[in-house]
Amino acid sequence: MRIGIGLDVHAFADGRPLVLGGIALDYPLGLAGHSDGDVLAHALIDAILSAMRAGDIGEHFPDTDPAYSGADSMDLLRHVAGLMARDGWHLVDADTVLVLEAPKISPYREAIRKRLADVLDVPPERIGVKATTSEGLGFTGRGEGIAAHAVVLLERAVS
Ligand code: MG
Repeated sequence: MRIGIGLDVHAFADGRPLVLGGIALDYPLGLAGHSDGDVLAHALIDAILSAMRAGDIGEHFPDTDPAYSGADSMDLLRHVAGLMARDGWHLVDADTVLVLEAPKISPYREAIRKRLADVLDVPPERIGVKATTSEGLGFTGRGEGIAAHAVVLLERAVS
């Protein structure tokens, strides 16, 4: 078994959709980024790659590569799920925390869990999603961006 941890931060930006865990939220600001800026997906991808000791998201999907401009992060997560399967890893459990002042995540939580679970081909029970504010402190508190933390537990059968 292996554990992995991932952390990502994206700044809010005008004129972009807000996509978290593959779900579009109704909010006037989106997240800046080379891809769709899905900070939650990116933290989860980094946690999985870290548990596999297979580098990080920047190595697999360089933000200098035009191929990933505007990329749907669910495609990136699906690719990482394929790497896990190829190497015999199974996702035992994943938990995530979003740090943001707004919007409220609770109306979208179940949709996000189901979307991430579908892409990773695991039951939604294995995907935790929660959110917290930073009590007005720091860049998240000022509403300048969103941080996402993820931890995963992977298991590989010993042959
Ligand atoms: Mg990112």
